[in-house]
Amino acid sequence: MDSPLPAEAAFDVAAIKQSLTDHLLYSVGKDPLFATSRDWYLAAAFSLRDRLISAWVRTMRSYYDNDVKRVYYLSMEFLVGRALTNSMINLGLYDAFREATESLGYDFDELQSWEVEPALGNGGLGRLAACLIDSMATLGLPGFGYGIRYEFGMFTQHVERGWQVESPENWLRYGNPWEFQRPGVIYPVRFGGRVVRYRDGEGRWNSQWVDSEEVMAMAYDVPVPGFGGKTVNNLRLWAAKSTREFNLKYFNQGNYIESVRDKNESENLSKVLYPSDSTARGKELRFRQEYFFVCASLQDIIARFRKTHSNFDLLPDHVAIQMNDTHPAMAVAELMRVLLDDHHYDWERAWTITVKTCGYTNHTLLPEALETWPVDLFERLLPRHLDIIYEINQRFLNDVRHRWPGEMDLLRRMSLVDEDGTRRIRMAHLAVVGSHSVNGVAEIHTDLMKSTIFADFDRFQPGKISCKTNGITPRRWLLSANRPLAALITEEIGDGWVTRLEELQALAPLAEDAEFRERFAQAKRTNKQRLAQVIEQRLGVPVDTDSLFDVMVKRMHEYKRQLLNVLHVVTRYNRIRANPTAFAVPRTVIVGGKAAPGYFMAKLILKLINDVADVVNNDPLTSSRLKVVFVPNYNVSTAELIIPGANLSQQISTAGTEASGTGNMKLALNGALTIGTWDGANVEICEEVGEENMFLFGLTAQEVARVHRDGWDSAAAIAANPELAQVLDMIGSGYFSPDQPDRFRPIVDSLTLGGDHYLLSADYPAYIATQERVDQLYVDADAWTRKAILNVARMGKFSSDRTVAEYGEEIWNVGS
Ligand SMILES: *Cc1c(COP(=O)(O)O)cnc(C)c1O
Repeated sequence: MDSPLPAEAAFDVAAIKQSLTDHLLYSVGKDPLFATSRDWYLAAAFSLRDRLISAWVRTMRSYYDNDVKRVYYLSMEFLVGRALTNSMINLGLYDAFREATESLGYDFDELQSWEVEPALGNGGLGRLAACLIDSMATLGLPGFGYGIRYEFGMFTQHVERGWQVESPENWLRYGNPWEFQRPGVIYPVRFGGRVVRYRDGEGRWNSQWVDSEEVMAMAYDVPVPGFGGKTVNNLRLWAAKSTREFNLKYFNQGNYIESVRDKNESENLSKVLYPSDSTARGKELRFRQEYFFVCASLQDIIARFRKTHSNFDLLPDHVAIQMNDTHPAMAVAELMRVLLDDHHYDWERAWTITVKTCGYTNHTLLPEALETWPVDLFERLLPRHLDIIYEINQRFLNDVRHRWPGEMDLLRRMSLVDEDGTRRIRMAHLAVVGSHSVNGVAEIHTDLMKSTIFADFDRFQPGKISCKTNGITPRRWLLSANRPLAALITEEIGDGWVTRLEELQALAPLAEDAEFRERFAQAKRTNKQRLAQVIEQRLGVPVDTDSLFDVMVKRMHEYKRQLLNVLHVVTRYNRIRANPTAFAVPRTVIVGGKAAPGYFMAKLILKLINDVADVVNNDPLTSSRLKVVFVPNYNVSTAELIIPGANLSQQISTAGTEASGTGNMKLALNGALTIGTWDGANVEICEEVGEENMFLFGLTAQEVARVHRDGWDSAAAIAANPELAQVLDMIGSGYFSPDQPDRFRPIVDSLTLGGDHYLLSADYPAYIATQERVDQLYVDADAWTRKAILNVARMGKFSSDRTVAEYGEEIWNVGS
């Protein structure tokens, strides 16, 4: 292409200042005399955006000119967090912008607090997608995100009288300066109808999907700047729009109101994100959302491919599609449909192309989270895809039968169709069969995939399943979120760590340097003070910044065991009360996380935390040594505030249930010590930082499996531990809920009568004993800081740059 590139916007403070005032006037439309700090935030966002665009255009042109292989990351969720500070840092403009806004008389931190974060995800899965696209851009890889532009993202959580209350997050209310609407990039997505079979001119049978209804998918583009500002990739989010013809039908009948109502209904498709994490609830709208974004993304990917190529056999050389969990697994059937029906490829060729193009990342082994869709839903909404899935299944099971004749039970287990009860399509099986590569997100999770849910598949195609341990972007989670620590590190070892996190190793010897330890501890203190201020402002609870900040922030879920944390808090409370004059290490227990709105138990545990907090914080015998705070509305911005201030990171899921976790990585990288189980990436963090620098405890995944096989007598375990029995008795009899003594009965019952599925009673003694070791170490501030430094120094492996490089080499076949 020879058209000129846009002029480079200037990066110096004077130019930025000019740009700020220009945008305030010409883009926001405000007189500086009356402008609010939100107006100035918008002006700053537009000024920064100007400075992204030339690199964005340049990046896209170079991909086109070099005909590079592109990676398409398909994800229902992208939990990207605020963009302003991150983009400034990645473009190297942070200081210049700060100076420019401050010279105009505005507080920079206040400006950025006006940005509403796009909460287009539930938790870990969406946040991983965000870290991976940051790393792809930083590594200069041609990586494109595809997702949904939900009008309402994750709900906002309020806490009222201790209960979670949800309210819709209208994040687009004030407009979104980071997106570009592309009214011209719009594709039809079809649902319903029927399949007709016909013979073509050469007498071959073909299928055509007809009489379907249509929704349009319109693109919105969000630039994704890599660190250093050279590469700016693209995140394309789809919004549902009604088709014109659709409305016309009613309109022509003279029913204008009906036509507008109809328009609303089709636009409902991208209205709201499903707020459940690690559970798959079979709702038709969700099914439609999944196909909607897969179908639009594939049309876009194929249109781009066809600009420069006509032979689909070359598709896998130019396109890698990564499916983030099974939500986009329909891509396998959709790509087949396009190749078979629209381009008349024969089955074998189409299948070879599809499998070579697709990769699948598994995120969970929990049975309740494995997606299956009823066959009748497919019949009604995607009849052609159902045909294709049946044929994929038939051919696949033939291969299996050929290899292992007569194994009926094996065929039943491996089938893409679950024939028990109402017939359902197993989306994970579709994804595994339709991909050339399947990966887990931590070593232990990958091993468990191979030995449990995908054991038959691993035996059938050894080597297809591999591990790509998750990572986090050091830009957002250290450089930006923890400026005091980042500055200290850079002063000592230079700033290479920002893109080569393993360079943090150079900090290890400094653990023995008393002066460095003091400066490291000072950075932690600064972060704790900032956090304490916010806690006092938002919750009215004063906290002691010398106390140990004990942090558990993540989605509320029984498998993550926030309840085990509560059992420790109450145990501690009882111990202090029983012995008020004995020394107890002061602790501030900080908890945050959202519960799925329909998840009764998670919401009740959240209420319990708040009720316990009420009692503990107001008891004069304990309040100076134990505080409990529940920080509402845990999201990326709150995470950026809390994590740098943590001393202790709680990662206490039942072994074998947390696929990887990334919260564990963020906290360790910010100098918190981990108390955790042998689960997910905790195991690999331990390999890196050393068992002596962590507090690991409890049953291993193998032991958990054995206990589940043999049965667990929780009543006996509780009876054998008088402290635990007392804690449960207090919770169950209304000690923390005098206004409703039986409120927490279901929680206690789940442990006593319900079999204690997550084995809290099994891990409780080890957990309490390990918490005692935590206290002992905290008393020795020097020893604690030494270990915290070694944690930071040895976290290099957990950069998402490493994760992306592995995907690039081993799955996508793209190099940087
Ligand atoms: C990192 C992160 C998560 C994931 O936390 P885990 O402890 O790994 O479950 C969830 N939500 C937000 C906002 C995050 O930043």
